[in-house]
Amino acid sequence: MKKIVLASNNAKKMRELDALLAPLGFEIIPQGQLAIPEAEEPHPTFVENALAKARHAAQYSGLPALADDSGLCVKALGGAPGVLSARYAGEPKADARNNEKLLADLAACPTPDDRRAHFVSLLVLCRNADDPQPIIAEGEWHGEILDQPRGDNGFGYDPLFFVREFDRTAAELDAATKNRVSHRGQAMQKLIERLPEL
Ligand code: IMP
Repeated sequence: MKKIVLASNNAKKMRELDALLAPLGFEIIPQGQLAIPEAEEPHPTFVENALAKARHAAQYSGLPALADDSGLCVKALGGAPGVLSARYAGEPKADARNNEKLLADLAACPTPDDRRAHFVSLLVLCRNADDPQPIIAEGEWHGEILDQPRGDNGFGYDPLFFVREFDRTAAELDAATKNRVSHRGQAMQKLIERLPEL
């Protein structure tokens, strides 16, 4: 089996990736298992942060490394919360406070058009720390921000993210449906198509 280090210690991401990649002959190793410290994520774009994390893990491990960076971009807020999505309302990170802040920031934006938003997922796979052409896969999932939360599934901004195609919020979708259509699901499918290059 080919080994890939995952530049994250998030158990949920680990399980999702493992389910997709194990049948293709890849073994996913979380960076924590190799005592690799978490990388800084100081950049203003998802792709730069994902690249920094993947390169860091490849450097420490000497193995190919995969990182992801994701977040919500709201049109009327000029793309915010963007790379700050996890900590939009400050430290410590908390989904409920982030959602409250998002609603407050959009209080002056009543129409669905104003409240258009999309989730972004950026996956970067570095074959080694000096890889001049890392594999980059991006997914976007478009919707609107409601004025109150709906649904109990998922995490983060899911209860506020309304998807017209399903007439539901992301938090009202079952996990399998969300994984199939979401930004992360789309980015993963694109990455899988490119894994033979590894
Ligand atoms: P990370 O890439 O796991 O650090 O996620 C960044 C942040 O973006 C999360 O903490 C959430 O606030 C938000 N986010 C990313 N993907 C999703 C999603 O699928 N649903 C809801 N929120 C998300």
